[in-house]
Amino acid sequence: MEFIQSLNELLFPSRCISCSALGLSLCSKCRRGWNPHIYITHIGRGKESLRVTSSVLYSPIAQKVILAAKENHLERADVLISSAITHSLENLLREEWVDYLIPIPSRKSATRLRGREFIKEMAGPASEKFRIPLQSPLLHGRRVRDQSGLDLQGRRNNLEGAFVVEMEVGLYGNAVLVDDLVTTGATLIEAARALRYAGIQVIGAVTAALAQPLR
Ligand SMILES: [Zn+2]
Repeated sequence: MEFIQSLNELLFPSRCISCSALGLSLCSKCRRGWNPHIYITHIGRGKESLRVTSSVLYSPIAQKVILAAKENHLERADVLISSAITHSLENLLREEWVDYLIPIPSRKSATRLRGREFIKEMAGPASEKFRIPLQSPLLHGRRVRDQSGLDLQGRRNNLEGAFVVEMEVGLYGNAVLVDDLVTTGATLIEAARALRYAGIQVIGAVTAALAQPLR
């Protein structure tokens, strides 16, 4: 096994995910753009409000890491994202009790194309490490148009009713949403709204990356 591993490295040497320099998953220069820390933001207002814990700031480097994992299934990029999610959750667990994790689902077409439920896979290591089960009661309810170019209110209107909740058994206790990236927060707010309406207690969200500003 070790032999195959080193043969693989010989044939396909590691390159920096961001700038392609030979060596590490992220070279020391690009590492500065993926430097796990803790960022806490509050999205939504009043009873819709949600606390989001993230690990890295979104940057061109973070964008490349997320794309490499999501669209190219690059294992080294997966590890960076799942570790960032684990880091965020670890921080949240210092203050909150969490009974289960709910990954934001991808559209069926995206899942088919990627051959996997991306966020669910990225949440796997955190779920295992802290022994917190993953639950998937969220489903996409209807088609929504592309979010890019829309502001928070535009996104919220676009996403209204985007999720439906389907539960085989009742889910009791504290739920935390998981996503790769939070931008305006519209997706997380809408997902939390749908879940809370179904009686699920959503106490927060964790993401790998945070894009600022949150407007
Ligand atoms: Zn680099």
